[in-house]
Amino acid sequence: MMRTHRCGELNRKYAGKKVILCGWVNSIRDHGGVIFFDIRDRYGITQIVCSPENFKEDEFSRIKSIRDEWVVRVEGTVRERPIDTINPKTPTGEIEVVPEKVEIINTSLPLPFEISEIEKIEETLKLKYRYLHIRKSRLTENLNKRALFTYRIREFLISEDFIEVETPILTKSTPEGARDFIVPSRLNPGKFYALPQSPQIFKQLLMVGGLDRYFQVARCFRDEDLRADRQPEFTQIDIELSFINEDDIISLTERMLKYAIEKTFNIQIEIPFPHISYDEAISKYGVDTPDLRIPIEYIDITSIFQQTEIKILRDIIEKGGIIKGFVINKGEKISLKDIENIDRIVRETGGSGLGWIRLKGDDIQSPFKKFLFPETIQKIKTLISSENSIVLFLAGEQKKITGLLNVIKKYVIEKIFTDRTNVFKFIWVTNFPLFEYNPEEKRFQAVHHPFTSPREEDISKFKTDPGGMRSRAYDIVLNGIEIGGGSIRINKKEIQEEVFKTIGLKQEDAQERFGFLLRALEYGAPPHGGIALGLDRLIMLLVGEESIRETIAFPKTQKGTCPLTDAPSDVEQQLLKENRIKVDTEKLK
Ligand code: ASP
Repeated sequence: MMRTHRCGELNRKYAGKKVILCGWVNSIRDHGGVIFFDIRDRYGITQIVCSPENFKEDEFSRIKSIRDEWVVRVEGTVRERPIDTINPKTPTGEIEVVPEKVEIINTSLPLPFEISEIEKIEETLKLKYRYLHIRKSRLTENLNKRALFTYRIREFLISEDFIEVETPILTKSTPEGARDFIVPSRLNPGKFYALPQSPQIFKQLLMVGGLDRYFQVARCFRDEDLRADRQPEFTQIDIELSFINEDDIISLTERMLKYAIEKTFNIQIEIPFPHISYDEAISKYGVDTPDLRIPIEYIDITSIFQQTEIKILRDIIEKGGIIKGFVINKGEKISLKDIENIDRIVRETGGSGLGWIRLKGDDIQSPFKKFLFPETIQKIKTLISSENSIVLFLAGEQKKITGLLNVIKKYVIEKIFTDRTNVFKFIWVTNFPLFEYNPEEKRFQAVHHPFTSPREEDISKFKTDPGGMRSRAYDIVLNGIEIGGGSIRINKKEIQEEVFKTIGLKQEDAQERFGFLLRALEYGAPPHGGIALGLDRLIMLLVGEESIRETIAFPKTQKGTCPLTDAPSDVEQQLLKENRIKVDTEKLK
């Protein structure tokens, strides 16, 4: 037998038992001729004590030659530690193992970096030795949680009659607003597959196929500039159903998340989640991904200043501008110095300065104090809910103000709301516009993807007011981060064609790219819709990490490279030839 126990499970109850452990050596040390080391595996760590009298001389000198991270097998007896050496912090801290035999299974080079210093290590080096990082950090636990969570999702969906289907990876473009990764076809020279940006079209075709309920833990590929915390390949929990409406999908998603999160993380989730319309989200929170952990809502206070004597504000209102801001209850944490900082930030970001009023009991502080009417103060007081509050506000053109308020809010959050751990606040955002205008390309584009259904009452607006059309889409946001989205789809060919036309796709091009979908829509496509949740991000939030890389075993760098395998790399000339590819080695401009 290779091992009888794992390194995290022995305790006092095992005292006197013979055991065999396997693992990596952790901090080997010599205490006056007695060799101590810890043996470590995924499950924990156990202390091993080797005294010279238990071994032949050559055996003991071999033990002395062992270095950290060597792989060993230890056969020995469990012994209770003397009281003063008990370590209450580890589950195995009451015992140690006294070996009769220590076998060196493999040696290891000294590690290229100290794992405890991993945060400071340059990314390329870190990813090159990803397996060492996995071995010695919480990555293993993150991957474990991810696997357990996915298992619960599957369990839930299968119990609700969903069928898990694998859709093609070598396929044709399925646009989600990013560039496609392409793969040459050797058997069809000059032709290319695209890797799926999502299984979107296939899942819709499965609905036409009568599958009724589909899901997949699906890998998606998007060739984007990896600015933020993105990966060129990532995983979605992808779902599609027939004969449903928005509420059915929303409620299914809530029940699924509640089930999987409670089972995996033992965190209680209250459902249903709140909803907010896109317009209201922008107006109250300045973004379509509200973070409900932060109790800051923007309020339009233009009407309060309608009669103001403050010239700068009056001028702005007369020009059609607005005054908007937010209240910070318990405002004592914002000092005069902070106000100065915020004012500077506003000016540096193109604003004309910060307005503020501090209310502390009956005392009022404000650069505008002299000009504030008692009624104005009275009205401001109705907005606040604590003894010591501060109102920050800006005046100007609506869109610009929202952008600036977001900048200020960020400052305030970093100053005040620093403890946001372990709270999970979900919200649905609904009622999105169907199209948005892209001024660079001078055309409309789909806000979600072009298969999203418009609302019934807007269908007549394709020609007259595409920008005013609303979609049947919904996004789900957790703690200010979009974790997924979906929609009811178009199931009528004519409407699908209208959407293609509106986003500037010529009829021949639409036919060439999506003819197979248009055809399927002519064969009795049922009403259908679905959702996809970003698994990497969801796990990141649930395990409390800051980056999705901490939830992916082998992520890529910001430039889309893999320092471990050196992908992407050159390929054999022969392979290029067979694929009829000539590489233009001249630097791309
Ligand atoms: N395919 C969409 C996406 O990847 C999700 C959906 O509409 O179901 O964002």
